[in-house]
Amino acid sequence: TKPSSSNFIKNIVIQDLESGKHKEIITRFPPEPNGYLHIGHAKSIVLNFELADEFKGKTNLRFDDTNPTKEDTEYVESIKEDVKWLGFDWDELYFASDYFEEMYNWAVHLIKKGKAYVCDLSAEEIREYRGTLTRPGKESPYRNRPVEENLQLFEEMRAGKHKDGEKVLRAKIDMASPNLNMRDPVLYRIVHASHHNTGDKWCIYPMYDYAHPLEDAIEGVTHSICTLEFEDHRPLYDWIIQECETESQPKQIEFARLNLTNTVMSKRKLKQLVDENVVDGWDDPRMPTIAGLRRKGCTPEAIRNFCREIGVAKSYSVVDAQMLEHFIREDLNAKAPRTMAILKPLKVVITNYPEDQLEMLEAENNPDDEAMGTRQISFSREIYIEEEDFMENPPKKYFRLFPGNEVRLKHAYFITCNEVIKDENDNVVELHCTYDPETKSGTGFTGRKVKGTLHWVDAKNAIPAEFRLYEPLILDEDSEGEHFLEQINPNSLEVLKGYVEPNMKEAKPQDKFQFFRHGYFNVDTKYTMKDQLVFNRIVSLKSSFKI
Ligand code: ATP
Ligand code: MG
Ligand code: MG
Repeated sequence: TKPSSSNFIKNIVIQDLESGKHKEIITRFPPEPNGYLHIGHAKSIVLNFELADEFKGKTNLRFDDTNPTKEDTEYVESIKEDVKWLGFDWDELYFASDYFEEMYNWAVHLIKKGKAYVCDLSAEEIREYRGTLTRPGKESPYRNRPVEENLQLFEEMRAGKHKDGEKVLRAKIDMASPNLNMRDPVLYRIVHASHHNTGDKWCIYPMYDYAHPLEDAIEGVTHSICTLEFEDHRPLYDWIIQECETESQPKQIEFARLNLTNTVMSKRKLKQLVDENVVDGWDDPRMPTIAGLRRKGCTPEAIRNFCREIGVAKSYSVVDAQMLEHFIREDLNAKAPRTMAILKPLKVVITNYPEDQLEMLEAENNPDDEAMGTRQISFSREIYIEEEDFMENPPKKYFRLFPGNEVRLKHAYFITCNEVIKDENDNVVELHCTYDPETKSGTGFTGRKVKGTLHWVDAKNAIPAEFRLYEPLILDEDSEGEHFLEQINPNSLEVLKGYVEPNMKEAKPQDKFQFFRHGYFNVDTKYTMKDQLVFNRIVSLKSSFKI
């Protein structure tokens, strides 16, 4: 991989290595397995893995699975698959839930030091007692419980003697702190629920702010990179590390999360789209999930290049979703063979072409890359062109087909339109044209010029195919709001039935092509069957977007 450009996190790492604070850096990507990964996670993955890689360090994949009710092994498996697909190999694979015993012991240590206590206030009372930015907090009446009593109650919590919500373990810090996170935060709560990894072994579970620094410390993580929302949790992170007296001293560093225009990007909201059947699963090509992007046909290279380009900053911003499309085009331009597909077919009969004749024409697979070779495409008396490439009464400067006009068929001949056949409702159903054998592509014909070049497929041998065209799922450019379900684009999916070149019968799921004039398409993994090719449009060919 090419070295990343400079950023503030990289500078911290360089300093820490130069000063001798660390000999080796260790980062981690710590997803909670409560949903599929999305493009925002990719930013964090690329950052963590490439940073460690650049300085010959290590990156672990750690499942931050401390919340039994929302987590599932389905998500664990999908996350592993997605990280690998993005092109990264973790050094170690960890589950935070494997540290529950150690975390429990640290909590006991905090209680013994007088730094944690069992509190019987309800969640609502705790919130009320916490105060606000302008109102100081009030101490819990349980704050000064003797250590022995705390130890006994905490043990009882673990043993299942209390119901959900009856008691919590809290840190004893400072109810007057200007930072609300420091006002005796909850460290453990009671949840009688089965956990995907530990089953029914535990009924108390550590809170994120308590668990995360300890997970980092256990693994020897040096730089614990997270998103900006956790900036005011950093004093608590440091407090936990200091008071638990962990051997290693990880540091939390925050950066701005990725936001994209017209995209919801929180697992909770994405799960809602799945659960309410707004989309067809986590891997729906309209989803910003890695699985959705993969199914749509986006490549890992494009995602990595995109993540490198957006860089790492400490200020909030929204990235134009077209920027990702730019990197997809750039990658596929080099990789995807060119071919022709007709998305909305209109039949053309070439009246002066012999009935039973069929010829093979040669076409290059990529005019920019000879190494991609050529293919043979069949041509005969009946072909399909794109419905929108014909107009009966065209405006000025219309260079495609209209009565009396001559155009070039890509890789084939010039044809002239002579007759328009309509049905009883006055719809154009067929065109009668003639071709000029002398104009055959590749013969060097220069006799006359035409302005329009159309793509086509041979009607006799073309393969029927379905094309799925996508628009943004969310209409609102700024899609962070809670009302995203009211912003769903009713036209986010258009399904068309047309034809592809005969040689596409070998196409397999995940094969990618550039359909002449239409854009880049991917063979769908879910709906493609033995005799039914389904293509997802990844991106159209052109965009006004500039980097
Ligand atoms: P969401 O808010 O979408 O549910 P999360 O932050 O709860 O995501 P985690 O599984 O906790 O999801 O995230 C794993 C890692 O990915 C965290 O370090 C988190 O900071 C990072 N991450 C999540 N969303 C983004 C984003 N939009 N941009 C950059 N990093 C992100
Ligand atoms: Mg989360
Ligand atoms: Mg979050």
